[in-house]
Amino acid sequence: MISIAIANQKGGVGKTTTAINLATALAATGHRTLLIDLDPQGNASTGLGVNQKARQHHTSYDLLIGDHALGDVVLPSIVPGLDIVPATQDLSAAEIELIDIPERTHRLRRALTGVDGSRWDVCLVDCPPSLGLLTVNAMVAVHSVLVPLQCEFFALEGLSQLLQTVERIRAKFNPSLSILGVALTMYDRRNRLTDQVADDVRACLGPLVFQTVIPRNVRLSEAPSHGVPALIYDIKCAGSEAYMQLARELIGRLPQRDMAA
Ligand code: ATP
Ligand code: MG
Repeated sequence: MISIAIANQKGGVGKTTTAINLATALAATGHRTLLIDLDPQGNASTGLGVNQKARQHHTSYDLLIGDHALGDVVLPSIVPGLDIVPATQDLSAAEIELIDIPERTHRLRRALTGVDGSRWDVCLVDCPPSLGLLTVNAMVAVHSVLVPLQCEFFALEGLSQLLQTVERIRAKFNPSLSILGVALTMYDRRNRLTDQVADDVRACLGPLVFQTVIPRNVRLSEAPSHGVPALIYDIKCAGSEAYMQLARELIGRLPQRDMAA
């Protein structure tokens, strides 16, 4: 199983939209996928139609703070082939509670280590908009990080802090951690500033940036209120097509031998 954290400490850049739709695209192309919601906002859970009642069962909080095994906290989603570990607001307490827990940076890693690796091919972790202990737990646990970057004037601001955090975690806790790629989101063809930003980001980060760009697309923002991924809400919309394309590009970047390992 390959695991990927979707992280950027900036808020509202498209992390959750990317997590939901990429996970759906991966499942749709035959990859058994697990999405772990590691954000107390629980947007990935809501967006995948995991209702409040189901969430009260067990959540990512129990995985990190309690001694629950992954098998206890996983729920099937409405998408065939896609399972989810949901999150609720309880998780916001975890950031504080973790401080007093031994191995506080390794809780998610520990939870993923005992897992039967043949159950899923890919695991995505939707991170909160901060570089706190939840995001650190994700980065200690995964193989690589995917960074959604919004095409706006301050896109690169904060990126060096994010890259530094990845570097520190690689040096201290997770030597094989890599950056899988940077995905440009909310791209607006008609806006010259967006174009300029995309060019600047490519000039700065080179091949790290995925060729696929995710357009600004209203269907992507409508889908969560219906509790379904955009890929189910409207498979033909530009946003859905872009996420299918991004999934193909992402699969091409993954070491194939690990996919089923
Ligand atoms: P947070 O940091 O709060 O977790 P986030 O980085 O997860 O936010 P999203 O929740 O995915 O970001 O997106 C923020 C808002 O922008 C949401 O309302 C979402 O529906 C909308 N959005 C995301 N991507 C697009 C897009 N490509 N086109 C239009 N709207 C989008
Ligand atoms: Mg989010």
